[in-house]
Amino acid sequence: MKETGQNIMEKIVALAKRRGFVFPGSEIYGGLGGTWDYGPLGVELKNNIKKEWWKRFVQSRDDVYGVDSAILMNSRVWETSGHTLNFTDPLSECKICKYRFRTDQITDPKVCPHCGGTLSSPRKFNMMFKTHVGPVEDTAAETHLRPETAQGMFVNFKNVLDSMHPKLPFGIAQIGKAFRNEITPGNFVFRTREFEQMEIEYFIRENDWRGRFESWLSEMHDWAASVGIRNLHDREVSAEDRAHYSERTVDLDFDFPFGREELFGIAYRTDFDLKAHTEKSGADLSYYDEEKKERFIPHVIEPTFGVDRTLLAVLISSFTEEDGGKRAVLKLPIRLAPFKVAVFPLLANKTLLVEKARNIYTELKKYAPVAWDERGNIGKRYYAQDEIGTPWCITADFQTLEDDTVTVRDRDTAKQERVAVTELKNYLEKQLE
Ligand code: ATP
Repeated sequence: MKETGQNIMEKIVALAKRRGFVFPGSEIYGGLGGTWDYGPLGVELKNNIKKEWWKRFVQSRDDVYGVDSAILMNSRVWETSGHTLNFTDPLSECKICKYRFRTDQITDPKVCPHCGGTLSSPRKFNMMFKTHVGPVEDTAAETHLRPETAQGMFVNFKNVLDSMHPKLPFGIAQIGKAFRNEITPGNFVFRTREFEQMEIEYFIRENDWRGRFESWLSEMHDWAASVGIRNLHDREVSAEDRAHYSERTVDLDFDFPFGREELFGIAYRTDFDLKAHTEKSGADLSYYDEEKKERFIPHVIEPTFGVDRTLLAVLISSFTEEDGGKRAVLKLPIRLAPFKVAVFPLLANKTLLVEKARNIYTELKKYAPVAWDERGNIGKRYYAQDEIGTPWCITADFQTLEDDTVTVRDRDTAKQERVAVTELKNYLEKQLE
């Protein structure tokens, strides 16, 4: 059978569910549209992605500072940022079946793709989730769940300046949840109503923006490659499709099985946000250059990454099939794999083997996440670990009891070698490097 994009997606979604990566949200109650839950392996993979990102863009740099701001913000933030007015998608509703569509995502804006009925003319639909803060549901207490993490960085600009005293150019980064009441969520975790973003606001002088934009764009490609995502396509976003704050946006598109779609984006937000917050809050969000004796409001380049879309692109990039499509191997980059190694006793009913394997397991667990499996036969256990991307499997067998060596089997080559138990930690450390 020829593989289609839909086919591959179905296999990945099924594997994600079966092996504890991603489950439908609120599943036992029939689900909740546009929400997904990450299971025991999914949360490890997601954490590893976030860790790699944080290490690369915050910890290993001198010029980027991390924050973790509140999801709930004063409603004036959203008025000032323009989201209350402008964070909208065009929505058309079918006059017959009442289905709703994003007008810019359908071929004929007048005809319902579901029943062929007539569609209403598009209206602006604000994607922010409304909520109330405190026990009184009056308009004064109304706010929204944040639709982007970016505003948390802008409102803390002065706090970071005053506490860390950075010199321009510098960035503020954050990883966190964002919420959008998408009209048509779908394609698994690609478009959801609750998701996570990894964003950097990189503050610069205005005349620096072109060079900084290009260098951040290239850093984004490098990071994607470091987590196994290759062949991203830069797409210049036209002025009419850009967000209201952006003077230039490039989307980095990935070839998902359902089509080429945005994975990351980079925008030149000018001084729009800091200027607007300065005007509306009364706080002074300017920067003073001590050398040049100049005070000004910095401009900003914003590289933005979706955690969930990255996780999906990682799964797609690492998904391979063996034995004529009978079994899957997730060739995850080692640093992303939920378990770095699995340990088995060759036979589960031989106490000495189980004890030996268990000791190895307990020892290695001090250094890395390790899986334990004693079900079924050894071949099945290898395949089960391949399917979740575990790079190495260690088996304690009868020879182990004689010479204290084990077999180490490599996920990608299926080659096995014998390694002394006392050398295991060094062996794995070397491979992990
Ligand atoms: P799209 O055009 O696909 O709706 P967007 O341009 O609105 O996306 P941005 O506002 O640039 O997206 O958000 C930054 C990043 O957040 C995106 O590149 C994407 O990775 C992620 N993202 C945005 N919306 C969603 C969503 N509904 N579900 C999952 N991830 C999302």
